[in-house]
Amino acid sequence: MKDALGKLRNELDRVDATLVDALAGREKLIARIGELKRGGGELRDPNREEELLTRLVDLGKRAGLDTYYITRLFREIIDHSIRKQQEHLTDAQNPERAGAEQIVIGYQGVEGAYSHLAARKHFGPRGVDVRYEGSRSFRELLERVRDGEVRYAMLPIENTTAGSINEAYDLLARMKLALVGEEVCEINHCLLAIEPVSVSRIRRVYSHPQAIQQCTEFLDSLAECHVESFADTALAARKLRDDQDLSQAAIAGEQAAQIYGLSIIKRGIANQKENFTRFVVVAREPERFDTRITCKTSVIFATRHEEGALLRALNVLSEQHLSMTKLESRPRPAAPWEYLFYVDFEGNVADKRVETALRSLASETSFLKVLGSYAARTTRDARPAEPRKPQAAAAAGNVEGQRDPQSPPASVLQMLEKKPYKLVSRAQRSRDTHIHVGNVVIGEQSPVIIAGPCSVESREQILACAEKVREAGADILRGGCFKPRTSPYAFQGLGYEGLDLLEEAGKQFGLPIITEVMHPSDVEKVARQADILQIGARNMQNFSLLKEVGRVDRPVMLKRGLMASIDEWLAAAEYILANGNQQVILCERGIRTFETATRNTLDLSSVPVARERTHLPVLVDPSHACGTWRWIPAMSRAALACGAQGIMIEMHPEPEKALSDGPQALNFERFAELMHDLLATAK
Ligand code: PEP
Ligand code: MN
Repeated sequence: MKDALGKLRNELDRVDATLVDALAGREKLIARIGELKRGGGELRDPNREEELLTRLVDLGKRAGLDTYYITRLFREIIDHSIRKQQEHLTDAQNPERAGAEQIVIGYQGVEGAYSHLAARKHFGPRGVDVRYEGSRSFRELLERVRDGEVRYAMLPIENTTAGSINEAYDLLARMKLALVGEEVCEINHCLLAIEPVSVSRIRRVYSHPQAIQQCTEFLDSLAECHVESFADTALAARKLRDDQDLSQAAIAGEQAAQIYGLSIIKRGIANQKENFTRFVVVAREPERFDTRITCKTSVIFATRHEEGALLRALNVLSEQHLSMTKLESRPRPAAPWEYLFYVDFEGNVADKRVETALRSLASETSFLKVLGSYAARTTRDARPAEPRKPQAAAAAGNVEGQRDPQSPPASVLQMLEKKPYKLVSRAQRSRDTHIHVGNVVIGEQSPVIIAGPCSVESREQILACAEKVREAGADILRGGCFKPRTSPYAFQGLGYEGLDLLEEAGKQFGLPIITEVMHPSDVEKVARQADILQIGARNMQNFSLLKEVGRVDRPVMLKRGLMASIDEWLAAAEYILANGNQQVILCERGIRTFETATRNTLDLSSVPVARERTHLPVLVDPSHACGTWRWIPAMSRAALACGAQGIMIEMHPEPEKALSDGPQALNFERFAELMHDLLATAK
């Protein structure tokens, strides 16, 4: 056994070495392409990136490799190539930068701090000799840049949970420095201790104030525990190692545990599961960027004391079609009740439109400081394309008469004026509402496909479903955790335990998740984990629940009630919009009629009617309407043909063993077949 294992491992080592060789070969080719592109031409071709990924996914499939695995791997490789090519071009524009022998990069903290990791991620692809040096504070760090002791500083500027890092902004306003880059790092806070002790034994927790702020919910749950601020997360980890005290813990990243030989006693303790920090690269002088690189520009300004001053300043960007990505305000030093505005927008100072905008901005403000332009990392087109996915029957969804229900005739508008809903009405808003969920847009041209089991039943079950949903090219993963069952003795769902599993499956396969919420007191909690909240048919007129989901900032899918007219359904949606949340998706799922052959009667005529009366997206759930899997493919096609902007399908690894709605679940093979069919129609 030992021998056999050793042999296999040797073989594995050889395969890995071949992979590294292949990557090195790829990198050489990229460098040559970079040389060629210096001369001109498009820097990136999203069509080619899409094609390349699609081809690799196909190749992988034939070799028995998982689609998502191949996509993730090659997106990383392509992203690296894009960065390499950008570095080539930027070197060409900044000869003084290209010649550097060794560059010193500064960051705040000690080895293993998040800033250190961000610096390594950013400067790795530069391909020059770099040395990293930690500083004690942001101020010291930036002073070292100013004094030429370090070439660049990696400065955290904002976090997706805790928001802007005020000190960083204030220092940028005060000091004469430039921004030359940005980086985004996923932050995964862990609780570290010197040994794998139970969390309940911890009495003291150390970390950076930002990290503490991002983990307040977890910290609040610890009884009798003292929390203490430290200059950075890695320093807190180092203290643990030095003290060797079992009652102490630190909040820091995985790498810090490795560096200081600590145990991770709990992972993922941040309030928000998706936790990213954006860093900026600070230098003494600005750098020039090729206009083919997607750039951002950062400025700081103060407005004049005139009415509409801020509006006019921002309008300058819109006039030049420059999209703003961030707006922040901070107190203006030595001027009580006056503010400095920090604005990031897409664009490069080397571009004419930006030059014009900056000139106008200067005349609209009382102070303007341009921090510089740099290669963007957060905008969508700064990242590699997705593999091409044939869009489900988009053509079918656009049958004549359904194509553009955007301006109803005057007689319809008159009729709509009398309805018991206003905000959902086309009379209020004629344009279709688009709802963004991760990278998916619901209500746009191409239909969206939601699929998954009726209920989350186990980790294996939901992971297997998610894999198939992803592989088939569907967009969103469904799974019920709180189940509205006719009988109190039937399976009621796994509750929050199920939601954790659904979330894990969604993350692993890059799919947004949707789940039903049944009680108003669960709304806020479920909204923290689910990307879309579902209101089930039985709760369509549960007005306290509707009001509650109206108060959270999460898309809501409202299913049509079993006995509800179209107008009652739309009036129910009005409850959600009237409470603030405008992100409602309607879902037709069949109504009660005298017919018993199907579980419900799928009222497809509600689709064109609802789409005429409201701007909200309308989806169809043929699974709950038919109640039997055999009719689902036909009704799915019909739904898209009559203008539904998406469908929701139930599937299960073993429908005959499902704990709920087995008879209507498609098995994996049938689901893949249906998806293939729907996607093929689109071509
Ligand atoms: C569901 O989608 O899980 C569900 C229970 O559907 P409905 O509310 O339409 O019956
Ligand atoms: Mn169901």
